[in-house]
Amino acid sequence: MSLSFTHLGTGSRGNATLLECGEIKLLIDQGFSGKELTKRLARMDIRVDEIDALLITHHHTDHGSGAAITQRRWNIPVYCNDRTATALNLDLRNVHLFENLEALNFADDLALLPIPVPHSGADNVAFIASHRGERGAVLTDLGSWTDELVNHVAGCQHISIEANYDNSRLWNGPYPMKLKERISGRGGHLSNHQTGDFLSRVVNQNTRSIVLTHLSQKNNAAHLAESTVLYHIDEIFEGDIRISHQEGPDFTHHIGQEEPEVLSRERISIL
Ligand SMILES: [Zn+2]
Ligand SMILES: [Zn+2]
Repeated sequence: MSLSFTHLGTGSRGNATLLECGEIKLLIDQGFSGKELTKRLARMDIRVDEIDALLITHHHTDHGSGAAITQRRWNIPVYCNDRTATALNLDLRNVHLFENLEALNFADDLALLPIPVPHSGADNVAFIASHRGERGAVLTDLGSWTDELVNHVAGCQHISIEANYDNSRLWNGPYPMKLKERISGRGGHLSNHQTGDFLSRVVNQNTRSIVLTHLSQKNNAAHLAESTVLYHIDEIFEGDIRISHQEGPDFTHHIGQEEPEVLSRERISIL
């Protein structure tokens, strides 16, 4: 049995990532309408009511705006921290409030660990999923990182991480100066260069797949993100690197398995 990661879409207009392990289906973030989530899961022949739990990284609209509707319409339990639950106005009767570094067990061999990450105005977390000795990381919306985060992501077999903006596109682009400063600040987002720098500290021989997520449509481009990141990790990383776009799902990565590491969208529909 393997653990798989599929991005249903990432970016400032909505984020959601599906984790599957045997019969268990988890969603990390729900920044889409109920209708949009239904449509995206249907491309994988999955109904929303098959989702066992929804985990929310932080309350920003593109990550949590669909949490309350998913909880209420489909009666799906939500896992998040206190600040996120309050900001999203969730029904606390169906919320599991977690603390940083509290292991969330969904099966004997599946646990998710929330790690705090710096992001202004929010209590944001990254998630490290563990399955039979292999680990996969999902981290997004962080302006910088901590040693603690590096320690937990180091050696993960799969890493999904934001690569939000290209430096020169941001600084030469149309955003007001205040917004440029916020995006590039310690509590903002990672640039392609920062993402490459972070990955150069955590990628090792065990790392087989990387997905770059949450690319800014105005301040980034897929070829810039990929080439900048590869510049930093070229000598240590020989695995699969992909870009997650706002429209998804496009591909699935597996860890701890015999199946192929990547399945294309054509295959997704017949699984
Ligand atoms: Zn975001
Ligand atoms: Zn955010």
